[in-house]
This record gives sequence, C-alpha cells and structure tokens, in this order.
Amino acid sequence: MYSILAVDDEKANLAVLNQILSAEYSVYMAKSGAQALQLIGKNKPDLILLDILMPEMDGFEVLTKLKEDPSTKKIPVICITGLDSEDDEEKGLRLGAADYIKKPFKPALVKARIFTQMEIVRQMRTIERLGLMDALTDIPNRRSFDDRLEMEWRRATREKTWLSFLMMDLDNFKHYNDTYGHPQGDTLLKAVAKIFSAKAQRPADLPARLGGEEFGVLLPDTGLEAALLIAESIRADVEDLQVPTADGSEMTAVTISIGVVSTVPGDNDLVKDFICSADKHLYAAKTTGRNRICTEAVKRS
Ligand code: GH3
Ligand code: MG
Ligand code: MG
Repeated sequence: MYSILAVDDEKANLAVLNQILSAEYSVYMAKSGAQALQLIGKNKPDLILLDILMPEMDGFEVLTKLKEDPSTKKIPVICITGLDSEDDEEKGLRLGAADYIKKPFKPALVKARIFTQMEIVRQMRTIERLGLMDALTDIPNRRSFDDRLEMEWRRATREKTWLSFLMMDLDNFKHYNDTYGHPQGDTLLKAVAKIFSAKAQRPADLPARLGGEEFGVLLPDTGLEAALLIAESIRADVEDLQVPTADGSEMTAVTISIGVVSTVPGDNDLVKDFICSADKHLYAAKTTGRNRICTEAVKRS
C-alpha cells in the first residue's frame, strides 16, 4: 500500500482527507510544517499533500526545503490551496509541486489527482527496478521515454491539458569526441544529463536519453511559454557548462540545439506527428546556426 503524508494546520481538513484516502492508502498526518519535516525525516511517504496556508512555516517553505534535499526532492507534493489563489498555484508549481488541489475538497477530484501522481511513482519504480535507466547518464532510456510518452499523451488527450516536449541534440559532438577523445565525450554526456534532470523539476517531468547525443524532456501539464523558459534555461546552462579534461589541463564546453513543441492533443492527433514536429524544429535549429531553440510559429490552443 502506498503511503501519503497529509499536512494541514486544521484538524478538520486532515480528518476529511483521512476519510477520503484511508481505504486505498496508508495515511499519516502532520499539523505543522515543522512536524511534517520531522516525520518525513524518519519515514519517507510516497506522496505529500501540503496545505499552503499555515502559521509559522507555510507550505512554500516546506516545499522549498523538500526540493533542496536530494533524499526528498523526488517525492511528489500536491499543494492544497484556498479558493481564488491563482498566484499560490503558480508559485507552488514553480517551486516544484506536482499539482494542486483547491479547498473545499471534492473527494473524486482528490482521488483522481492522487491516482495520477501514484501512477508516475509506480512507473518510475518500474523503470528503476527493470534497469530502464541509461547506464552512462543515469537518466531514463529510450524505452522508458516511449512508455511514458504514450501514457502522458493519453492523459493529456483525456484531460485536455497541455503537453510539451523538448527534443535536444548536442552541437558538433563528433568534433568534440575527435578533439578530446571518446571517454571525455562520455564525461560530457553525463554532465549535460545532470542539467536536464535538474531542469525537469516536477515529478511528472521526464528527461531521457533518446540515443547517442540526443536527449528529450517531456513536460506534462506544461504550455509552450513555460516549455520555452525551461528550454532556454537548459540551453544557457549547457553553454556555460565547463567540464575539466581528465588531466585537468583544460576546460571544455559544448552547445545544444533544441526543438520545442506544445499541444493539447485532440482525439485524432497522433503522437508520432508530435515527435516529428519536434524533430523538424530541432533540424531548423541546426540549420540556422545551432546553440538555439526553434519552435512552432503559431501557438495552438
Ligand atoms: P550536429 O551539430 O549536426 O548534431 O553535429 P554532431 O557532430 O553532433 O552530429 P553527428 O551525428 O555527426 O555526430 C554525433 C556524434 O556523437 C558521433 C558520436 O561519436 C557521438 N556519440 C554518440 N553517442 C556517444 C556516446 O555514447 N559517447 C560518446 N563519447 N560519443 C557519442
Ligand atoms: Mg491552513
Ligand atoms: Mg549532434
């Protein structure tokens, strides 16, 4: 049974959540941010429901602490916000929350949101168990990516939400290998994969090595504008990255080209066209000079 930690300063809310969830999950509760952190330190839950508005340490502060700690940063956190709190939602998602739920709770909605996150947890565990991680870079491999893409495509179609994808390829990497040697190329691939992992902040975000020096990041529930911000931040970090050579005599660097697509898939849209379109934009980024991001000119809605 998966475990959920519910954090809320109001006892009545905790009681409602417990009632909604205890049949399917093992639920434990904290009535303050400090107590939550203490409990998580002892026993890691599979998911956290976190009230934003709490006295002393509020939900944002708890969330920030969880995301800073490598041992807790991957635990999905669903923020609980009051009515009319668009800014809180946005801030929560920016800090790495997986999703948000509005008060008062609608039991079916709470269950559905939690189910979605648990499906992702389950899949990430399967990926780890079956060795579906890329051995060199330690991020999910192509097969994991394809499985997850299919699942997220279905979800976005069903729930009419945005799905974004960044298709990325290192620039002139053959030259890099020829200049510094293949082992140094491997070191660099590992270093850029770390950047992708760091930028794919939400639990549902999936960075993957698609092959050779080609990578992808899948961004569920993310529109074009947010996807472009992430793409630009990746591009800039890769450009700034300095990797020392094995003998420490030299620092080396590369650049990356990125094709970005975003869509709310319709019933008749095909996932292969989505990927194909990302590939086309990546090609455009290559042919217009590399170290850049290309995307669709028209934003679909
Ligand atoms: P472009 O900017 O057009 O993408 O040029 P490129 O040189 O990056 O592209 P090309 O496809 O010509 O070369 C890809 C290179 O990536 C060739 C191959 O040696 C290198 N590569 C692919 N996989 C690995 C790997 O696992 N380790 C290392 N070190 N290099 C790899
Ligand atoms: Mg509260
Ligand atoms: Mg390349």
